[in-house]
Amino acid sequence: MMTDIEHITIAEARRDLDGRTYSAMELAEAHLSRIEEKKGNNAYLEVFDDVRQQAKEADKLVQSGRGGILAGIPISVKDNILIRSRRASAGSKMLEGYRAPYDATVVLKIREAGGIFLGRTNMDEFAMGSSTENSAFGVVKNPHDEARVPGGSSGGSAASIALHTALGSLGSDTGGSIRQPASLCGVVGLKPTYGSVSRYGLIAMGSSFDQIGPLAKTVEDAEILFNVIKGNDPYDSTSIPVKLYPRISEMRKRIGVPRALLGEGIDEDVLKNFEKTLAALRQSGYDVIDIELPYAEYALPAYYVIIPAEVSTNLARFDGVRYGLHVEGKNIAEEYAESRSKGFGPEVRRRILLGTHILSAGYYDAYYTKAQAVRQLISHDYEEAFKAVDLIATPTSPTPAFKIGEKTDPISMYRSDIFTVTANLTGMPALSIPSGFVEREKKELPVGFHLTAPMLRESWLFAAGKDVQASVK
Ligand code: GLN
Repeated sequence: MMTDIEHITIAEARRDLDGRTYSAMELAEAHLSRIEEKKGNNAYLEVFDDVRQQAKEADKLVQSGRGGILAGIPISVKDNILIRSRRASAGSKMLEGYRAPYDATVVLKIREAGGIFLGRTNMDEFAMGSSTENSAFGVVKNPHDEARVPGGSSGGSAASIALHTALGSLGSDTGGSIRQPASLCGVVGLKPTYGSVSRYGLIAMGSSFDQIGPLAKTVEDAEILFNVIKGNDPYDSTSIPVKLYPRISEMRKRIGVPRALLGEGIDEDVLKNFEKTLAALRQSGYDVIDIELPYAEYALPAYYVIIPAEVSTNLARFDGVRYGLHVEGKNIAEEYAESRSKGFGPEVRRRILLGTHILSAGYYDAYYTKAQAVRQLISHDYEEAFKAVDLIATPTSPTPAFKIGEKTDPISMYRSDIFTVTANLTGMPALSIPSGFVEREKKELPVGFHLTAPMLRESWLFAAGKDVQASVK
């Protein structure tokens, strides 16, 4: 019998499916009707027409005992990750009508593990944003308060989990796009180590930052998904070869807190919630140690210099000829210009302009080279800090979910990423875990606790994340 899907996790569904408590078909049906019920939140851009067919196949596999770890598990996928023969629009008009010619490596891996693809989730255009307000297909409404944003850019993925319309989701994180929406929607989100999950089949934003990662209801579920999607991939030249993986020792339960970063601009109750979680971790045997990250305050400016530069080069391929939208013009130059100005929204155009400026001969050294140097200094700060601690903790976001339309100037939006961009600058893995709620206008809004680990130490994040999870219950 199908119980209430609100209380099912991937780990539980695995046991239930294997124990024949319900079938993959029943689980899929329950999710499809829930998606229909929650349509107004706009988390999905498309629900696939073959979900029941996939469930039927999954049931056969489960019955034969040959099903993988995800056999029959319903999963949603961010609109910038390619699923063969399905549309992928990256939340942009520019990719109108585009269909993916192949599966992203992560999709292939989930397929092989038996996962069921429910549909494509809404996102900020080409993953630029922290609210999904930049989507060409309308904003996603936060499951906890529909007047508020779900965070971004993977806002559709985070909302799909919080609304119980999927058991797991794939998002992408370039500067916080998995962790910040996870925090604002009250779910778990992991940005894996750069190079540990293949980027093959991910529509690129900033190639030296982008990582695909899981969103889920629990840390256990995020771990299950990560174990399925990780691994070396010859199709991604930045994928880490297995022989370079270090031996991972036990975590020693030392958490560093960069106090100097926890000042201005952070809501008081968010900070209180953070201190409460730290106190709970002390209770479970962690040492909480103050640390210094002298260059971390420059993370946001460095990120917002390098990112437009990478965006402007990556998005040069969308010329109105090779993919998606095409606008006729008198000559090829006019066709490029018309297609690009009609296809791209304002934030994407802003970054292309900024990036082109930053990379131009006269400014390259002043901006790009300087920001890359700062990136190095920040990585060095983290490496030094990790000599004394195993994990570094901050809140995930300085505020809970903000109102739709509230942040009108780009800089105030960029500030939401203050705690998340460093993990992408350094390549280190980071996890956001729900740590409770704060109240705004009589609504309980979720808050996230953010942990960063040294390269390839996802196992430490999961271990500490489970302790955070246990302390909140
Ligand atoms: N909000 C950040 C930005 O707009 C992060 C985006 C992301 O991680 N994809 O760049």
